[in-house]
Amino acid sequence: MAEINDQLMQQSNLTDVAQLDTTLRVHIVYATEHNFLGKNLYGGITKAWLRNEVAHMVVKANQLLKAKHPAYTLLILDAARPMRVQQQMWKSVAGTKNSIYVSNPARGGGLHNYGAAIDVTILDENGTPLSMGTEYDYFGKEAHIDNEAELVSTGKITEDERANRLLLRDIMRKAGFRTIRSEWWHFNAYSRQYAVENLPLIQ
Ligand SMILES: [Zn+2]
Repeated sequence: MAEINDQLMQQSNLTDVAQLDTTLRVHIVYATEHNFLGKNLYGGITKAWLRNEVAHMVVKANQLLKAKHPAYTLLILDAARPMRVQQQMWKSVAGTKNSIYVSNPARGGGLHNYGAAIDVTILDENGTPLSMGTEYDYFGKEAHIDNEAELVSTGKITEDERANRLLLRDIMRKAGFRTIRSEWWHFNAYSRQYAVENLPLIQ
């Protein structure tokens, strides 16, 4: 089995999105030990790889962000994810309450496995992430986007944090991305069904 690294991703016809827009920032959290599994799952993958058309959508989103806040920029936390990494993640959550946060490989995985999803947040003019109310990859209702008014009214997140999420969703949706209910940071370029039926899986 080939080693997982940036070269493998390039050979899978994916685009390094930071090459298209040098103002984008990238920190692939699963390539560090600071993730929910406490280990580097991505081997030598250090860049944000995406299908080419999806990479262009991210560039568009960053332009929309800068039109509103010229000193802000997007920070990409995850992009394409090989299916074999998905299988490792699934094994760690299968049968637990956290399984809703990980796509099941037996059902074709998720859009990250097709290079068609990103996890993203916004950096301010100092390079500091805007507060979104939870950390990235927080497993729980506070990270969900479908009931944020209640999260604010019950003091789980602040009005400013909600506004920051709305800013992120606004630019991402205008660039063509779709949201998911349970993660404020996750955006899909297509429906899951479209991806499973039409796009090559990243092995
Ligand atoms: Zn994601």
